[in-house]
Amino acid sequence: MLQPWRKAIVTRIEEEADSTRRFWLKVPEMEKFDFDPGQFVTLDLPIHEKPNKRWRSYSIASWPDGSNEIELVIVLLEGGAGTNYLFNQVTIGSEITFRGPQGVFTLPDTIEKDIFFICTGTGIAPFRSMLHYISEHNVPHKNLYLIFGCRHKCNLLYYDELRTLSEIIPDFHYKPTLSREEWEGRKGYVHAIYEEIATKKPVAEFMLCGWKNMIDEAKQRIQAMGYDRKSIHQELYG
Ligand SMILES: Cc1cc2nc3c(=O)[nH]c(=O)nc-3n(C[C@H](O)[C@H](O)[C@H](O)COP(=O)(O)OP(=O)(O)OC[C@H]3O[C@@H](n4cnc5c(N)ncnc54)[C@H](O)[C@@H]3O)c2cc1C
Repeated sequence: MLQPWRKAIVTRIEEEADSTRRFWLKVPEMEKFDFDPGQFVTLDLPIHEKPNKRWRSYSIASWPDGSNEIELVIVLLEGGAGTNYLFNQVTIGSEITFRGPQGVFTLPDTIEKDIFFICTGTGIAPFRSMLHYISEHNVPHKNLYLIFGCRHKCNLLYYDELRTLSEIIPDFHYKPTLSREEWEGRKGYVHAIYEEIATKKPVAEFMLCGWKNMIDEAKQRIQAMGYDRKSIHQELYG
């Protein structure tokens, strides 16, 4: 069901990485803002006269905690109307019109297969939400792999937090990789990592989140490994 437009107030903004900020939004008219981990909200930003040209969607990076506050993690797009507004005009106390939660990119009702969470950049948002939810509710699961790609170490979003989660959640394997910098961890793109892990073709679901290039290539490679199209789920950012 499509939710009505509501008002949110920006309560906190933090720089998470180069050109990437965390925004906290509170919904005063609701006591509790409920959603399924993986869902998104749509912001109606004053950047165009035509309503449908003002809408920009963002995955909820926080997890349902019974409060009326959510977190978004947003990367500034050069020349992007929506993100330039958010980065240059929005401050603490700003009011934003939004609707949601929306979307079906969520965890299965029962987790009976391994899950590969594959993402780049702010595509981490829905998976951060899902992993905290799994951890807090002790959701039964098989192997969980979070394969996260970015260019440089300074863009490893939520790095310490995810490392901690990988120590807390049994069978959760956090696999960050950098494409443009040498470091103590993996180097290269996300694709080589799930291909290596899945060589024995475990029963698995693949959840992909981020931009078209990565998602198109991953879909092709996962199917080339012999997995059915139905085992691949995606949230395409653009
Ligand atoms: C479900 C979903 C979840 C997302 N979650 C995140 C997230 O968590 N973090 C994040 O950083 N990004 C996320 N995105 C991407 C985000 O919605 C924006 O596309 C991105 O922030 C760039 O917006 P922009 O306005 O700065 O760029 P722009 O290039 O100005 O706009 C990007 C997109 O907006 C639309 N658009 C722009 N101008 C017009 C126009 N004149 N008329 C009609 N349509 C137009 C187009 O679809 C375009 O591809 C998500 C996208 C989707 C669909």
